[in-house]
Amino acid sequence: MVKQAIQIFGRIKPVKKTAAVYSVKNKEKTGGSLDIRVPKDQAEGFVNNKRERYKFRFCKVFDQETTQEEIFENIALPVADSVLDGYNGTIFAYGQTDSGKTFTISGGPERYIDRGIIPRTLSYLFQRLDQESNMIYSTHISYMEIYNETAYDLLDSRNEESRLEDLPKVVITEDAEQNVQIRNLSCHQAATEEEALNLFFLGDTNRVIAETPVNHASTRSHCIFTIHLCRREPGSATLRRSKLHLVDLAGSDRASKTGLSGHLLTEAKYINVSLLYLEQVIIALSEMNRTHIPYRNSLLTFLLKDSLGGNCMTTMIATLSLDKGNIDESISTCRYAQRVAVIKNEAVLNEELDPVLLIARLKRENQLLKEQLAMVTEEQRDDKLTMEESQKLEELVKAFLYDPDPDVVLSLGPDMRKIQHCFSLLKMMILNEQGGKNRCQDGKQPVAASVREDKVQHTQHIEADLDKLKEMLKQRDDEISVLVRMLKNEKNRAQGASAQLVTSDLNPSSDSASNVSTTSPSREESTDIMAGDHTGRSVHHMKMVQPLTIGKKEAFEIFKRDHGDLRSIEENKILLKERSTVARTLGQQMQESGIRIGKLKKELEVRKRQLAALSVIKNQEEDDDGYDSVEEELRKSLKAEKKAYNNVVGNLRELKVEIQHLQLLQERAKAKFLEEFNKWWKQEVSKSQFEEESEFETTAMSQSQHQTSLEETLHPSSPGTPGFGAVKDSPAVNQHPDVNSSIPSLSKIRPFSSFQSFSIPLTGNQQADSDIIAFFKARQEVLNRAGVLRQ
Ligand code: ADP
Ligand code: MG
Repeated sequence: MVKQAIQIFGRIKPVKKTAAVYSVKNKEKTGGSLDIRVPKDQAEGFVNNKRERYKFRFCKVFDQETTQEEIFENIALPVADSVLDGYNGTIFAYGQTDSGKTFTISGGPERYIDRGIIPRTLSYLFQRLDQESNMIYSTHISYMEIYNETAYDLLDSRNEESRLEDLPKVVITEDAEQNVQIRNLSCHQAATEEEALNLFFLGDTNRVIAETPVNHASTRSHCIFTIHLCRREPGSATLRRSKLHLVDLAGSDRASKTGLSGHLLTEAKYINVSLLYLEQVIIALSEMNRTHIPYRNSLLTFLLKDSLGGNCMTTMIATLSLDKGNIDESISTCRYAQRVAVIKNEAVLNEELDPVLLIARLKRENQLLKEQLAMVTEEQRDDKLTMEESQKLEELVKAFLYDPDPDVVLSLGPDMRKIQHCFSLLKMMILNEQGGKNRCQDGKQPVAASVREDKVQHTQHIEADLDKLKEMLKQRDDEISVLVRMLKNEKNRAQGASAQLVTSDLNPSSDSASNVSTTSPSREESTDIMAGDHTGRSVHHMKMVQPLTIGKKEAFEIFKRDHGDLRSIEENKILLKERSTVARTLGQQMQESGIRIGKLKKELEVRKRQLAALSVIKNQEEDDDGYDSVEEELRKSLKAEKKAYNNVVGNLRELKVEIQHLQLLQERAKAKFLEEFNKWWKQEVSKSQFEEESEFETTAMSQSQHQTSLEETLHPSSPGTPGFGAVKDSPAVNQHPDVNSSIPSLSKIRPFSSFQSFSIPLTGNQQADSDIIAFFKARQEVLNRAGVLRQ
């Protein structure tokens, strides 16, 4: 058990001009401190008209110029390490709106370098897990948003909706042992960093899309990204389960900013009620004699029960903005942090025995013991195995060999004949494999044969070395081809993304099929273009869409022209292109380096053979220490080349993550852009509908003085097929046949009689127009005669 107070860190957001004079001190032993001096004129009125100086202690304070990488390394990395060791961890960002919570936890919206704690932690965790190849592990991701005391699943894979309320609701309850139970929250397995990153962006895109100017979701909601980790050693039934919550809290803004003294300030009402409850829980926890902690008052405190005064290593980042108008809020954030720092958590190692694994292991042991016993007590058979038995054994051996589970056993029972037979089968398989490999590589005899033939020990070493080198060469070749393929994919993807963005996405007037795929801003009419790419479910907002109506296309052009986000999308596109070019160059370097390695290896091989031959021929009495300068030189060059190769591979890997991140940022920006357009479009449509209706009402009123009581309407029967619905005979039509020479601009349901007020021609062709009118009249007559309308 590790008893530890909640770690608190301060981060000051870069601002052009700070209103307060402040100083940051960070010392190895005593930690960090933040000294804020408020100018008298500032202090008066809104902070405190007496106090001018404030001092707050933190574990460390990060000043304005701190990079995201430093934040990750100082704050998140130690927590991620303890999560890998099997402890629960929580990092939450607390601060007023616009102070940098989202920037710190998730990252900036544009640049790769601005990626926040979540993507960096994912990257780090997967890197560490990859290094520990002897461990069996699984990672799962969940992502939820709490808004207005309701929790929503941000990773709903069915999600086509744009409103937060349409996302599945998460239910949080408590079991008999008072453990928090979460239901209806999807938990997705992520086998790689790429999959995890996709999930993060999927949730984030949902989050962005769900926000409206009315709900201000990002300011008023809490987002909790959770990484669930489960690890065990092969053969062990002991599991270590741990989870890491990365929390972006709602803005801590208080209802009133003015006229409060220091004491009253802490009592002031929060805009966000659940933050008030969070504060109450924190106060209760910091008062040692309190027995009741009001966790149940809000979803947030309930959910973070373990992270506050429970089994968790918790870290708080107080985000501060020290510009004019925000000092009081920042001081209040610091005060909050001081209180949080008092809370002590007791993190325990989350080890548990998996009953299923335990039973399987015990069964295996039991079987083994039975077999051992039988081997000793039972009489051994010496008759030959039947054909069927041999076949069955062969299948068993194959299944054993190809099963990736390291715990798999080959269970044969207490029959020595079978055991011997399986050993022979295994031997045969190994020899075949080696023989085949050797034959196809250089036409040599199988290794076993050559070993028998060659009795000189030195040559044996060379042979073994050779094999190793060949194996390595093959591995490198495989690696190169995989990476080249990867690179090609990346290139295609990058080009695709760029092309989609500018030529298609932002150019809905284009008619080509491929362009249409991302052309339309309509999310409703779309199908997924990402299927098969990434995890398939990653970006549901990237859609294939039907061609747009001319009006919508034009509207989109106008919207595009006036939209500021477009610039960052364009810039990102250029960056993506640049990175892809670098990746291509690196790929070439890697290939060339691979070829050089191959050559050097070959040369080394030849040299070694020569030396081996020489050593046999040479007189042993000659003074020979086995040193060969040519061989040594070759080794050195090979080593250097390998180093260069590994460097390039490393760079390429990093670049791959960067390119992927940029693409996801791009997709998110695009989704946001399209969503905004759709919302704007809907508004515009309803506005124009409203205008038309008012227009109609005016027209209808003036006409009603001349018209009979019959109110006639002309309907398109469906939006897609412009036909006419049931229409009553209109005297207006009869009296003024030419009134039909106009249609409504948006093909909306509209009264026939109001056509008069439009000046747009029906088709523009007089003949066609009069045909339509004639048809319409004829139809009316038929309907009238049938008496349909009179009923
Ligand atoms: P919050 O989530 O607290 O409301 P944000 O994280 O959205 O605030 O930050 C508000 C704005 O300030 C964003 O445009 C963000 O990119 C920017 N920002 C915040 N912190 C930093 C920082 N450390 N460096 C650069 N820009 C920042
Ligand atoms: Mg935010």
